[in-house]
Amino acid sequence: MRPVPNKGVLDIEAYVPGKSKAPAGVTLYKLSSNETPLGAAPAAREAAIAALAHPELYPDGQATELKRAIAEVHGLNPRNILCGNGSDELLGLLCQCYLAPGDEAIHTEHGFLVYRIQILARGATPVAVKETNATADVDAILAAVTEKTRLVFLANPNNPTGTYLPFDEVRRLHAGLPGNVVLVLDAAYAEYVRRNDYGAGIELVSSAENVVMTRTFSKIYGLAALRIGWLYGPEAIVDALDRVRGPFNLNAAAIAAGAAAIRDRGFVEQAADHNARWLEWTTDALTSLGLTVTPSVGNFVLVHFPDTPGRTAAEADDFLTARGFILRRVGGYGFPNALRMTIGTEEANRSAVAALGAFLGKGEA
Ligand SMILES: *Cc1c(COP(=O)(O)O)cnc(C)c1O
Repeated sequence: MRPVPNKGVLDIEAYVPGKSKAPAGVTLYKLSSNETPLGAAPAAREAAIAALAHPELYPDGQATELKRAIAEVHGLNPRNILCGNGSDELLGLLCQCYLAPGDEAIHTEHGFLVYRIQILARGATPVAVKETNATADVDAILAAVTEKTRLVFLANPNNPTGTYLPFDEVRRLHAGLPGNVVLVLDAAYAEYVRRNDYGAGIELVSSAENVVMTRTFSKIYGLAALRIGWLYGPEAIVDALDRVRGPFNLNAAAIAAGAAAIRDRGFVEQAADHNARWLEWTTDALTSLGLTVTPSVGNFVLVHFPDTPGRTAAEADDFLTARGFILRRVGGYGFPNALRMTIGTEEANRSAVAALGAFLGKGEA
């Protein structure tokens, strides 16, 4: 006799984070985890440090200061906001509250891997829906809905593809879902998107009973180490998740830093400007090398390699790693011959592209 985990748990392949090591003596350019090259706003760092003056005190279990700052900046009612230990925690809480063994939850073919992990952890069935041109396909998602479906996860924009659905497509998706299915709009990269037809989901959440939007401080705000996410949703859903979460799920440094970070709109704008400029430059430069780049609206690009031996993604990855450029392998996302590259500093972008040029025999090593 020995303990056996619940059904589904052993079907999970543990999430593999982006690598972060370069060989000794080589400058490291970590472009594997979609972290910002610009760090966090100074006020956010200072607030985090100040919050550590009293580590003996429990943090505010309601994260009041952070909710208030989010509500002010986004024009929301704090009662519709729930903060999480990263948005990953919120995705898990949604599965905990709305999935039981035997239920189904939908994610897209190349969708963020955390969905599948959390669905399986509940003993529920992940239903992967085909994408079209590496983009979520509303008709295919709607066709996959059954009477067992409880959740639909849509990363918009998606990681690792960088593609997005225009907001009228998101509305069409919502309009086709039964009222008892929760539509989860994961907008981790919303701040980076510069498209007139994009919406993170605030209006839809405000006008529906079965839509939530998740956001994170890990990407443009540069606070990944502190683990801060938030969810905007109907009161009934927020109330359910609030009952299940850990009573002190955000630590004191996270609450203080998040509140300071979200109020610094100038910092966010600068980071978005930097990204827009280098996203375009990097896409063009990689395309000029003859690589195929999936058009991205996020802070990363999915780069596809030729099948030719000597030029594959795995070989490129080895070549780059030896020179200090850490990109992300995405075989686990259904792209065995692609790498995901995060947009970095000017120097990182230029040197990574030059290294890829050398790998392909089109430039100096
Ligand atoms: C990075 C990312 C998140 C953020 O996760 P945190 O737990 O907030 O760090 C969520 N969704 C997607 C699609 C991401 O790429």
